[in-house]
Amino acid sequence: MVCAFCLVNATDSFFGSYCEKCHKMQRLTHLFGIEKIMSVLETVLLVDEPTQKEKIKDELKSDLTTREYHLRSRKQDA
Ligand SMILES: [Zn+2]
Repeated sequence: MVCAFCLVNATDSFFGSYCEKCHKMQRLTHLFGIEKIMSVLETVLLVDEPTQKEKIKDELKSDLTTREYHLRSRKQDA
């Protein structure tokens, strides 16, 4: 069976609808939220090649900064 999402790879189990990579992407979507995933895809992938690397760096940097902030604020709550 071909994956119902990417329509390229084989499904990862006999009764499954998705391949291994699309299952991973599904978990990431649940983890970060569909809006976050879509905004990353749109801002990072739908631009020309030279600015792509800079966009990836910016996305990773802002994500790490946000997480660090959440960790700090949790420590203060405890
Ligand atoms: Zn797939």
